[in-house]
Amino acid sequence: MKWNSIETFFLDMDGTLLDLAYDNFFWHEHLPKIYSEAKKISFYTAKSEFESMYKKKENTMQWYSLRHWSEVLQIDLLSELLITKNRISTLPKAKDFLSLLKKNGIKVFLLTNCPRDMLHVKLSQTKLWGYFDEIVSSEDFNFPKESIAFWDVLDKKYEYNNETTVFLDDSKNVIDFSIKHGLKNVFLISSPDSSKKSQDTFGYKSIKGVSEFKKMITN
Ligand SMILES: [Mg+2]
Repeated sequence: MKWNSIETFFLDMDGTLLDLAYDNFFWHEHLPKIYSEAKKISFYTAKSEFESMYKKKENTMQWYSLRHWSEVLQIDLLSELLITKNRISTLPKAKDFLSLLKKNGIKVFLLTNCPRDMLHVKLSQTKLWGYFDEIVSSEDFNFPKESIAFWDVLDKKYEYNNETTVFLDDSKNVIDFSIKHGLKNVFLISSPDSSKKSQDTFGYKSIKGVSEFKKMITN
């Protein structure tokens, strides 16, 4: 692959540009703690209650929604996001990589399942506004990235070519749907969370992180 053979880049946010360590902390440590305090139950009970509700909503819009979980748990999660926002950070060399794409004249789309309210806080905290030609939250389409409907709407709304577009994401599920829809240059991020070991790549084309993509370039 050569830089001049790439017209468009689709980039996921959490676990691709931003360290998934924050989301894992927020949903699996901070939220159960706040929930246990609000309900006056043990952390362990709160965590197992929440995890089982959370699991049932996987691959739906609600799973990603602060508003949904605020209603269900009766906790203002947007405030909790603001209280913990200092922990939000980019993955190594993410900004350098975004600058490199810009330098090579590539159109950059942020494609995220993160809803707009949370997205706003995350991009402000990491100062990533300005690196993207388009910012797409699946909330705008009302279908998660792990659905054919999402890619159908994206395809109708924007012009891109399956052959000259590169897509990086840390979710195998999302990657499956993007390939089903026709994308050809898709890579799984194998190290989305700096505090954990790499994930299994199950034979997908993969790179550790975005900066490793340069190795795919031959010119
Ligand atoms: Mg992700």
